Amino acid sequence: MSRTTRIERYRNIGIMAHIDAGKTTLTERILFFTGRIHTVGEVHDGATEMDWMEQEKKRGITITSAATTASWKPMRGPFAGHPHRINILDTPGHVDFTIEVERSLRVLDGAVAVFDASQGVEPQSETVWHQANRHGVPRIAFLNKMDKVGADFAMCVHSIRQRLDAHPVPVQLPIGAGPEFTGLIDLPRMRAFLFDGERGEPAEGQEIPAHLRAEAEALRLRLIEACAEVDGTVLQKYVEERLADITAEELERALRTGTLQRQLVPVLCGAAFKNKGVRMLLDGIINYLPAPSDLPAARGETPGTREPVTRAASDEEPLCALVFKLMHDKAVGSIVFLRVYSGTLRTGMAVLNTRQERRERVGRLMFMHANKREEVDEVHAGDICAALNLRGVRTGDTLCAPEAPVVLESLRFPEPVVQLAIEARSRAEQQKMEDGLTRLAAEDPSLRVEVDPETGQQLLSGMGELHLEIVVDRLRTEYGVEASVGQPRVAYRETPRQKVRQEYRHVRQTGGPGQFAHVVLEVAPAPRGSGLVFVDETHGGVIPKEFIPAIE
Ligand code: GDP
Repeated sequence: MSRTTRIERYRNIGIMAHIDAGKTTLTERILFFTGRIHTVGEVHDGATEMDWMEQEKKRGITITSAATTASWKPMRGPFAGHPHRINILDTPGHVDFTIEVERSLRVLDGAVAVFDASQGVEPQSETVWHQANRHGVPRIAFLNKMDKVGADFAMCVHSIRQRLDAHPVPVQLPIGAGPEFTGLIDLPRMRAFLFDGERGEPAEGQEIPAHLRAEAEALRLRLIEACAEVDGTVLQKYVEERLADITAEELERALRTGTLQRQLVPVLCGAAFKNKGVRMLLDGIINYLPAPSDLPAARGETPGTREPVTRAASDEEPLCALVFKLMHDKAVGSIVFLRVYSGTLRTGMAVLNTRQERRERVGRLMFMHANKREEVDEVHAGDICAALNLRGVRTGDTLCAPEAPVVLESLRFPEPVVQLAIEARSRAEQQKMEDGLTRLAAEDPSLRVEVDPETGQQLLSGMGELHLEIVVDRLRTEYGVEASVGQPRVAYRETPRQKVRQEYRHVRQTGGPGQFAHVVLEVAPAPRGSGLVFVDETHGGVIPKEFIPAIE
């Protein structure tokens, strides 16, 4: 069986946002419009399709990076009329789950950054934005909640430019804001699309309302200028002052080039909750974000010799895939989420897990849709899928063809910042707790489980209090273990790096508005001589000496 969708028609995307910007609502509406779910549940009543785990339902936050497959045929643009496959990787907005964001950023090809149109850039959006920069992820921006009182399109565009140091390029102009938000002007086409109740925007555009004509013309000129910087055809017509000859298709192609090169960020807007602007956003995802084949080949090395290896996104190359998430499901057991970079993976095939130097036989393979699981015999380069019953696999492992071994560049995990002692209530539960913790640690490499050699206490270290709280919660709901937690008996012996992190986090936290505390610190070797340099990877730059306590 060969692939049903050509790789150029894949879009593997993440939706990233500050908590409450509307990521869950938007994801759900996208799934609604892509035809996979037919009822739209309210977000915080626990009916949302993307929220899988108990905790998410209870807390109303999205923790997992569940991958969902959908399909969309764009209405307009260079790919109009062709069905595309969109794999959506859910990325959480809560600070303690930055690690989850990190792992989905590693395997996605492009992202939609969602902002609350009345708030502009918020601290968490800044953090995720910088993480995405680090991973070189092309992005489009969606200014959500345009229907809210106080929504301000121009303010948001300005704050993206100022606070994220990005080059936002509006491709739409909203018609009205707040309760008067009634439509969108498509700037490449210079047509107005007035919303049809809550069914979204119609296929046919109309004349731009007279009072918005001048503003739309001015924004279109800015759009043309941005496109001229990345596209020869647009540049030529621009310098020859033939602006009216520049077609919508030319602008769309230039926007795609600019987005892929990460020179610009197309800005779209809407109100997910009211279904407004969602279809145009779906068109934008297809038109501007990359297919796996648009990106550089996956990088890795040969195990043992450590020679660099690249694998192009093609079915003709030997198989390589990265495990980016493990989940446990009551019905089917362990689910391994895989991103296939090259080759074809079939059920029954023997693959090599290079980290563990072990061969595994692939059991069942499936695509996870919003409302069903689709079992398949094979998956191909570019696919994101789930494999059942692969034993002994950990997050970050590479699976490859045994005759062409490779270790893909894996995920990077910052060191834990919070530690707790955990104890089962009875001896009988002790073993169950240890088994549960072992499995949870395999799923989540940012969770560290260890026994203090001096006190014998079981210690848990993680990315934040909520992170550890959820672990304790999962022990109860999934493993039936009631555990009590407390501070470790011996004072937490901090490594120099941990000390710096604590001090520096404190400074960032209290340093004024916009400062965000969750920094990832790496110790880099000093350029010359002895000593250590501490780098703030989230904000960039070396951390000044005064934040670094004396290192014994
Ligand atoms: P998340 O935390 O980013 O996943 O955000 P949610 O999707 O949970 O949305 C947060 C809140 O904003 C919920 O109460 C939503 O109903 C509301 N919301 C989402 N989209 C819109 C929108 O387009 N307009 C308005 N007014 N509210 C919205």
